[in-house]
Amino acid sequence: MEFNSIIGHERPRSLLASLFEKNRFPHALLFSGPPGVGKYTVAVELVKHLFCETKTACGVCRPCQNVIRNGHPDLHTIRSETSIGIDELRNVRKEVYESPYEAPLRVILIDGAEQMTHEAANALLKTLEEPPPLNLFFLITSSEKDVPLTIRSRCMHIGFGPISTGQMKSHLVKTLHLPERKAELVASLSWGSMSSAFFWMDEENFAMRRRLAELVIGKKKGFVAATGVSEIIISYEKGLRFYLYFLLSLFRDLWVLNQTGDAHALVNGDLRELLETNTWDVAWVERSIYKVQEALESLRYNINRWLAFEHLALSIMR
Ligand SMILES: [Zn+2]
Repeated sequence: MEFNSIIGHERPRSLLASLFEKNRFPHALLFSGPPGVGKYTVAVELVKHLFCETKTACGVCRPCQNVIRNGHPDLHTIRSETSIGIDELRNVRKEVYESPYEAPLRVILIDGAEQMTHEAANALLKTLEEPPPLNLFFLITSSEKDVPLTIRSRCMHIGFGPISTGQMKSHLVKTLHLPERKAELVASLSWGSMSSAFFWMDEENFAMRRRLAELVIGKKKGFVAATGVSEIIISYEKGLRFYLYFLLSLFRDLWVLNQTGDAHALVNGDLRELLETNTWDVAWVERSIYKVQEALESLRYNINRWLAFEHLALSIMR
């Protein structure tokens, strides 16, 4: 079994390949790891292998096509950004007692398993405790500790790490034809997440870094500037996390400049002239790193993103 469309994750891939070859799957798999590294993609790729007419995830047979457009009758996907309630699981709990329509087994894929309400998690637990045959549960989470231990203990756990910067860079150059230097920058900004890499490959998002950096280091001042930048940043829901990681890399760069003065070690080398306009107060840099980390942590909860970001921007601006 090969996963040609997937970069990195050698260990999870070889584990899954061996389960596939032995045709011996547990009734539930838990994929955990940082957001955007490809957990969902790997799960779908495995489903294609399981359902494919030739067992090769060919991508062209009818079952493969149905999986790709998420319209296969034996693939039940539950995804939610905010919460997964009992209603979303109700159908699944009935369905699992029936035979699959056409595939050798039914797959129930829960993306964002940490978002299950207490009620939903309890309902799922009952199913997992006495699993009806011919069902495979995939639970995907970027916050493993928020999935109840009782559920975790019923799953075979497969951990995903970030994709290495080197692997990502070479993928961006070879497959997506990015120039070497841009690929290096995008890979460093992406912290091992492929969705983040796609985000930074967008020219507008990429250019927004400079505006945000100008705001943070005090080149553009004031509430109006902060509000304007916030509006753009919040306009794309998933972008906030990527911008926060960018801020971490920015403060890391300011810290490096303060400690070593070595501009060659910067992640954001293209912003060098901006970052070198001052000698930075290390206490401010360290406090800001802490504030950004706090904001990243708060994204796990259902917060008002707009207010959270604006508050952060105002508290770290020079
Ligand atoms: Zn196929």
